[in-house]
Amino acid sequence: MTTDLPMPRVGPVGAHAPKPMKVVLNWGRRYSLWVFNFGLACCAIEFIAASMARHDFIRLGVIPFAPGPRQADLMVVSGTVTDKMAPAIRRLHDQMPEPKYVISFGACSNSGGPYWDSYSVTKGVDQLVPVDVYVPGCPPRPEALLHGILTLQDRIAAESLSTPGLRARYAGHRSAGAG
Ligand code: SF4
Repeated sequence: MTTDLPMPRVGPVGAHAPKPMKVVLNWGRRYSLWVFNFGLACCAIEFIAASMARHDFIRLGVIPFAPGPRQADLMVVSGTVTDKMAPAIRRLHDQMPEPKYVISFGACSNSGGPYWDSYSVTKGVDQLVPVDVYVPGCPPRPEALLHGILTLQDRIAAESLSTPGLRARYAGHRSAGAG
C-alpha cells in the first residue's frame, strides 16, 4: 500500500507562508528525523556504531530507530544492495510518509562498491529510490555520516513548505513506475 494521501495543511504555506513559520516548522522537521535503517552488510554495523555514545548522532536530532517505515522520515541504506533485495527496498520506501529522505551510506550502496562487477549487485540504490545524500567510504567513518546528516538538515531547512514543492522531488521516480 502506498501513501498517496495529501499532507495536512497547517495554514498558509509555500510562497504565502510567513518566513518565521517556515523557519519554525523546518527547524522541527530537521531535528526530529526518525530513522529507518535498511542495513544490508558491514556498513550497517558501522551505522549502528555511529549511533552509540562515542559519536552519538542522536544529539543532532536523528532518532534511532523508527518502529517501521510508516513512522520514519529518513531511510539509511547501508550495505550491499542486491537485485533480489531491490523490490523490498522500493516497497518499504513507498510506505514511508512524505516528506521523506534517503541517505546512501557507503560505497556498496552508492555504486556497488567492491562488487561493482557482480551479476547480482545493484550498482547504486539511487536506481531504486531518490537519494538525498551520499556518504562515501568502505566503510565510511562515523564523522562522514555526521557530515552527511548535517548536509541533509541544511537542505531541509531551505525547503519550501508547499506540498507540491515537497512531493515534486519524487514525481520522477514515481512516474517511472519502478517497483
Ligand atoms: Fe562492506 Fe565496504 Fe560494502 Fe560497506 S562499502 S557494505 S564496508 S564492502
